[in-house]
Amino acid sequence: MDKQQLAGTVFWVILLLAGAAPFYFKDRGRRRNRAGRCARCAAHLPWDDRFRVEGLLLCPTCAQRTRSRVGVAAVVMVALGLLSSLFGIVAAVSLRVEGDPSWWLALLILGGCGLGLILLTFFAIWRMKADNTLGSASERAMTLIRLLGFDKTRSERNKPFGGGA
Ligand SMILES: [Zn+2]
Repeated sequence: MDKQQLAGTVFWVILLLAGAAPFYFKDRGRRRNRAGRCARCAAHLPWDDRFRVEGLLLCPTCAQRTRSRVGVAAVVMVALGLLSSLFGIVAAVSLRVEGDPSWWLALLILGGCGLGLILLTFFAIWRMKADNTLGSASERAMTLIRLLGFDKTRSERNKPFGGGA
């Protein structure tokens, strides 16, 4: 059972790292968005030419790149999950043939990893969509504030007084 256990552990470590990485990049992206910059390349975002991907604002170039990257990542994740499940079945069958009593463990670990990867992919896509809905809502609120001129109040008050008299 050594090889299978090792494979399972490696799988979960990769899975955990893959799960934690987006949180770091997302935080950095949010900081850039607040400064009016693209979440990925930090270029200045034009007000009328910006795209919302994964709940973050991106310039047109980065948006196109990220969209195709997300699609490829989802396909790779699902393929990896299916491959892991398949590998688990093959490993379990071969262990069973060899008479190893722990054959079901290989099926459990690798099949579980595979299923976990597929579920994680769907969860990530679902969360992305939820983020976008939430992001658009706050964006609309900001646009409304701008339209009503609330954001100008402070800067106009700070202008030097003059011209009137
Ligand atoms: Zn960009």
